[in-house]
Amino acid sequence: MSSTSFPPLASHTPPWGAPSPVIQLQIGLFRELVSIPRPQLSFRTVKKLALEVIQKKAPECGLLALADKILLFRHAPSSENVLQRLGGSDVISEGDLIEVVMSGSASLAGLKLRPHVLAVHSYRSPTFCHHCGEMLWGLVRQGLKCEGCGLDFHKRCAFKIPSDCSGARRRCGPSLSLIPTGRTRAASLSTQTGGSLEEISRSKPSRRSRAPSWGGRPIWVDHREPTRVQVPHRFHIHTYTRPTVCQHCQRLLLGLFRQGLQCSDCKFNCHKRCLPLLPSDCVGERGSFNGEVADAEMTSCPSSDAEEDLDPPSHSTLLVDLDEQPSFEQDPFAEPGGAELQPPISPCFSSNIPLMRVVQSVRHTKRRGSAVLREGWLLHCTSQDLLRKRHYWRLDSKCITLFQNEGGAKYYKELPLSEILRVPGAEELSVLPAGGSTHCFELVTDALVYCVFGSRSPSAQGSRAPDTRAWERAIRQALMPIHTPSSTGTEGQVSNMQTQENMDFSSVYQIFPDELLGSGQFGIVYAGKHRKSGHDVAVKAIDKARFPSNQERQLRNEVSILQSLHHPGVVTLQGMFETVDHVFVVMEKLHGDMLEMILSSERGRLPERSTRFLVTQILEALRYLHFKNIAHCDLKPENVLLASADPFPQVKLCDFGFARIIGERSFRRSVVGTPAYLAPEVIRSHGYNRSLDMWSVGVVLYVSLSGTFPFNEDEDVSEQIRNATFMYPEQPWSQVSQHAIDLINNLLQVTVRRRYSVDKALGHTWLQDFQLWLDLREFETRLGRRYLTHPSDEALWENHAAERGLAHPAHFITEQRDSE
Ligand code: ADP
Repeated sequence: MSSTSFPPLASHTPPWGAPSPVIQLQIGLFRELVSIPRPQLSFRTVKKLALEVIQKKAPECGLLALADKILLFRHAPSSENVLQRLGGSDVISEGDLIEVVMSGSASLAGLKLRPHVLAVHSYRSPTFCHHCGEMLWGLVRQGLKCEGCGLDFHKRCAFKIPSDCSGARRRCGPSLSLIPTGRTRAASLSTQTGGSLEEISRSKPSRRSRAPSWGGRPIWVDHREPTRVQVPHRFHIHTYTRPTVCQHCQRLLLGLFRQGLQCSDCKFNCHKRCLPLLPSDCVGERGSFNGEVADAEMTSCPSSDAEEDLDPPSHSTLLVDLDEQPSFEQDPFAEPGGAELQPPISPCFSSNIPLMRVVQSVRHTKRRGSAVLREGWLLHCTSQDLLRKRHYWRLDSKCITLFQNEGGAKYYKELPLSEILRVPGAEELSVLPAGGSTHCFELVTDALVYCVFGSRSPSAQGSRAPDTRAWERAIRQALMPIHTPSSTGTEGQVSNMQTQENMDFSSVYQIFPDELLGSGQFGIVYAGKHRKSGHDVAVKAIDKARFPSNQERQLRNEVSILQSLHHPGVVTLQGMFETVDHVFVVMEKLHGDMLEMILSSERGRLPERSTRFLVTQILEALRYLHFKNIAHCDLKPENVLLASADPFPQVKLCDFGFARIIGERSFRRSVVGTPAYLAPEVIRSHGYNRSLDMWSVGVVLYVSLSGTFPFNEDEDVSEQIRNATFMYPEQPWSQVSQHAIDLINNLLQVTVRRRYSVDKALGHTWLQDFQLWLDLREFETRLGRRYLTHPSDEALWENHAAERGLAHPAHFITEQRDSE
């Protein structure tokens, strides 16, 4: 570690004037002259300078994280001990040569540049990209998982990630030490590490073990190539319509269909047999830069990503309402060329994609224990009882509890936040001062006014009285708990929660932020309460900042459509409130959704009997919508809400964000809905009408009865939808009636003209079932409302029962059916 081969120490003379004091930093083979502002520097400042130099010379090393692992030695050539260790109290003077080395306690892991080893992965539950934080969209092969550390990435992000695999899950393949290119350098750092160099060299890929470079080029250049993340292809089975050559072995891909594999991103074609021989060298989507453009399977979602997936017409503004087009140059109802319905093949084992929540609808039904927002001693009296009482108040997101003492569980009273109508401050008190002294604020409920005074702790007489202004603010905040950074305000400031609009909303409703009912592509749905009536509500809170203006329009579309709908099968809208940063859509609260019912059922799929019951209600709601010229456009089990946990619950459709008003003879073209449930005409951008909902009913029926999507995981999903090449694997379809399969086949028709309408579906044999009739009649009797069955069918089913000797209960309500 001698410094003799380096230039002699000299003051650094800038071209513009007097020399400034310098020190030299020796880092491995590098020697850096560093100008310093003063002739002397503290140990800490020099350490910082050293880190900056390392960062500059080897930016990929990210060594800043290792600030505490750096040791400094002063070169003292004339002394017996040529390197003198420096400590925190030492000062470094002008002209010093400082050797920078890594401490022996530095972990080897921290010193490595380890590229991620990525493999294509299919996720069964919502997963987020570690790089950009966004959801990994799609049904299969949604992202890349690092086999080393287990982190997940979008393919488009894989081109940008640094080589910083922690290897925590399993040892990654290539791993390199920070400074591996020279013996001296390795010695200067790694001998201090106490780590194993063997591990480093052993894992170096052979093609990278070229002679070390001494040429003075920046160190990271040597690392860029070997540590570059290699991105694998994402292959699916492909049917080629013209002769195609394998790009690996240059031989023809033989056969009539499913001849080879194609990368969904770069469109690389190869034989299945060539697959193991291929390097991970996908260059990303063809025509895009570094995989920026995502493909259908990978990222399909009803956001702008989906627009690219679905081969949109070049002139259309997707996801933006296009005007209704009563005439269309291309007949969308025409038979799609070459897309003949293929007979279903029935393999024994299903390789269908298991049912899962598509789009970001993660349900969080479990209530966390409410966090305490504020607690302390307070005095209060009420408008009916002027005697002041001292309690230990605890505020959480749902209520204020008045405890007898600080630690115990015994409490005097619980005051639910949802009952608080107003919180007048000192300026607007409504109740006369009690006992001579004025209270600080009030809590106004329907029945009582609580007058609140500050109080010291009964045990610590000398302690400060509580800050009642802070209590007042905390309670107001808890009444309106959804904030954005701009609305929460800083400590001590009154937040803009008190703006008129916010107050309007919070004076009518209480949101329970701990009680999430679900989340969708727009916002989070919370449970809440109407303060006056105490009725439960569901509040969809949409953070405006998260959505571009066209999606805000979509939301307004949802509200205006919902406002015009009144049907027991459609969720009731109670109001919409808008504040500076949020839109709150208040709806009746339901219990759960159909997806949850399917996923949590014993066999992961529903029996035919309950599916019949649910699907009939969906069809009745659709009959109402279609009658009003409204297409839902995003029908899926997540948007089929259930009113109770009953095995035969009431069903209500929700999420009208994509709903469109479409006249009987007209159709639209903008891309709508969720990919897995999308009709082929939407994918083909051929224009669609309300019958797209009937396709979705077919998919809902399929997933409900089987617990899987109708798509095979090896093939391109949008191709499968376009051609309706769905199969019914023996497991579980051998246990499902042929009538059910027949109805599905009639709904999953590529040709719109052949696809069943609501009335045809309701009239299908599978839904003309005596048990279903009984279940519906039983349900209507329970509800006290008739809207699913028709009195004119009564005699028919009574005869049916009589002919077969079946019991037909007489207790059903006999009212006329609700008029629509
Ligand atoms: P988005 O429009 O943001 O996609 P949704 O309206 O689809 O949101 O709602 C997302 C989820 O929230 C639903 O799948 C459902 O689980 C839950 N949810 C929505 N509305 C209600 C409601 N009224 N009652 C109970 N849960 C609801």
